Amino acid sequence: MENSKKNNIDLKNEKNRIENREIIITSGFEGGNGINFKSYGDDIYSFSPLRDPGEFYSGQAYFFKFSVENKLIREDDTKNITVTAIADFDELWKGWTYQQNPKLWVYHGKNKTQLNPKFVKTTPKTMGINLEILPQEKFCVSNMLAVPYSEMVEILEDIQLRFPTLTTLSKIGNTPLNNSIYSLKVNPYENNNVDENKIKILFAGTAQPNEIGDFASILLLEEFLSKEPDFWDKIHQKLRIEFLFFQNADGLILGKNMVNSSGENIFFGYKNNRDDMPDENKVVWDHIKGNTPDIFFEWHSFFQDNKSIRPYLYTTDLLKSKSFRKLYDKIAKSLISYSNGAKEVINLNQKYFSDTLAYRLQEKFNSLAFQFKLHNGLKIKDLKKIIWDIFLRLFKIINKNANKIKIEKEINRL
Ligand SMILES: [Zn+2]
Repeated sequence: MENSKKNNIDLKNEKNRIENREIIITSGFEGGNGINFKSYGDDIYSFSPLRDPGEFYSGQAYFFKFSVENKLIREDDTKNITVTAIADFDELWKGWTYQQNPKLWVYHGKNKTQLNPKFVKTTPKTMGINLEILPQEKFCVSNMLAVPYSEMVEILEDIQLRFPTLTTLSKIGNTPLNNSIYSLKVNPYENNNVDENKIKILFAGTAQPNEIGDFASILLLEEFLSKEPDFWDKIHQKLRIEFLFFQNADGLILGKNMVNSSGENIFFGYKNNRDDMPDENKVVWDHIKGNTPDIFFEWHSFFQDNKSIRPYLYTTDLLKSKSFRKLYDKIAKSLISYSNGAKEVINLNQKYFSDTLAYRLQEKFNSLAFQFKLHNGLKIKDLKKIIWDIFLRLFKIINKNANKIKIEKEINRL
């Protein structure tokens, strides 16, 4: 838990923290989102996750992160505690799955996890976990895979160090809380010499911090970098690849669902008029505007109990030419056939979704824009495979239709 960033949960408020002679339970760390901690005696505790302010979509509190610390020292001072999370949004909580941060969080196994019906009422709105904590042990617990912002930044910086000519990591701007939004370009031979004719694909993680979009992009990047140079060359003959990281960096650190530090909904914040956008969206928009992608692909995730993965497709009415609409449908078909969940289709001027980055790019820049929903309950190994399979599918179609895309680019430039 050596994070450099902290959320802004007020730890002086006793509702946001429990500390006694033996134990500390709190969410006062990067991404932590627990409030209203309560003690019931006999090592039984509960809390509620923070919810975003605002309207439908932004308030969903279906994930939690808290930390526990055993202050005791003697060898036989192992603590066994029960912590129950209480929500007020019952339908959503049924799908909870237990996950851990692969590096940071210790997960204590499903078999140890149960509600304690004696003290905390079991309802669809609650879930609990029984934890064994050794003397002096301290760890974070989350119900879903959640990788902290600062850890992801470290991974990106490490990639830049390991692949200094193949990757270019840059900060494209800062958030109101002064955290950076990043671009990483994979461009081995064209650092100073960008070939505008190449097809540009932009991958991004969603602006919804509870989803593992940014981490999905990292998994894709790492898989790409693990290949042989011959493979890179094959890709680069046709494609320029860029990644956009941390659309909602502050939200990640603050443990939000969709909003930024001012409570603005970043995901639905790509307003028609740039001046109406939240600051983070302006940074992203200004960056993309100068170098628009031919294809935009945004990773999302959710916790549906059947572990479904599925695409979000945007109406092709937004696209300029018939041939590009056909190409969109080809990619869509491939994504649908790979999915085990139902596709979602976003219509013209659809509420909320017509203000997403995907919609805006397809509408204003004729980019073929897709979102893909992964599942928070998948193992990292399986996530990696899915993400890579999708990349190869995209590449196959792009490769086959490269001329078509180039012609479309030229027409648009006129
Ligand atoms: Zn999403």
